[in-house]
Amino acid sequence: MPPLLQVENLRTYFHTPRGIAKAVDGVSFQVEQGKTLAIVGESGCGKSITALSLLQLVPEPAGYIEGGRILFEGRDLLDLTWDQMRRVRGDDIAMIFQEPMTSLNPTFTIGYQLVEAMTMHGKFTGAQARQRAKDLLARVGLQDPAQALRQYPHELSGGMRQRVMIAIALSNEPKLLIADEPTTALDVTVQAQILALIRDLQREQNMGVLLITHDLGIVAETSEEVAVMYAGQIVEYGPTSAIFHEPRHPYARGLFASLPARGRRGQDLATLEGIVPPPTAWPPACRFEPRCAYRWDTCAQVPPKYHPADSDRPVRCHLYDPEIADRPARGAAPIAKEPVAPDPTVEAAR
Ligand code: SF4
Repeated sequence: MPPLLQVENLRTYFHTPRGIAKAVDGVSFQVEQGKTLAIVGESGCGKSITALSLLQLVPEPAGYIEGGRILFEGRDLLDLTWDQMRRVRGDDIAMIFQEPMTSLNPTFTIGYQLVEAMTMHGKFTGAQARQRAKDLLARVGLQDPAQALRQYPHELSGGMRQRVMIAIALSNEPKLLIADEPTTALDVTVQAQILALIRDLQREQNMGVLLITHDLGIVAETSEEVAVMYAGQIVEYGPTSAIFHEPRHPYARGLFASLPARGRRGQDLATLEGIVPPPTAWPPACRFEPRCAYRWDTCAQVPPKYHPADSDRPVRCHLYDPEIADRPARGAAPIAKEPVAPDPTVEAAR
């Protein structure tokens, strides 16, 4: 059976005054029914643009999908007309955005927006949608759903608005939920409740979830697989437990070393040196090379290969490529290089 979502070599670029920004540059992954894939990485690595590309919501005209395939239940979404794609959004695939206030219309009540989300796709009549709206708000944990239906977004707290967004996203029982930093703006208690809610609904509806986050604690709790993204590309992909236990790519090692862990009490947490370069200035060979403590000359000259079809733990790094003859032993200590200082002209352009 094909996966619910299969993304192949997706490339999303932007025209900018400083040239083409390759925000998403050859990304491939898949999401199975009832399972969660987490895409992790620092801000500016292309995670959110990847999510927006799936629903063809990339800001135009600057942004455009340069190529690739987005197969949903075997059908390439890039071949659909605007109308067909509009039906897929909300009906089959729903998205929870980072900031609910920017996604809810401040001029309409919560009830209007929830009912409209259900009736516009024709799955429910007005009466059914109104009853279902109340049920959904109760399901996402709002204390007084009848009152919330009459309220405007600004009358609700951040946690309540995020719950409303989840209710809207789930109102048409989507097969795939894309959650882009769904709990970033929330306090820890509400965050835990919302993640538990998504998990419950995922189990009930056998929904696939694509979770975009930089919070590795959330990844550990919720996902079966992880894709580590850096500078518009996936640099490591595999089962969550394997990547947490033994991250391989030097970037993934840096990310996971910054997690607090049992047995490291009292020790300083590791930090990743340097910053993500802007997408108009990705380094030409290995994009992590300027920040990598393991780099050697080849890394700045030859782009590392990445073959997701050949392995269940693909890694985009010369250290894992047997065809790179001059690579050091994988277990060798880092060569203790300082990150390359950012180019001031590039920094000025950020
Ligand atoms: Fe580091 Fe070289 Fe691997 Fe890039 S290819 S991550 S620079 S070791």
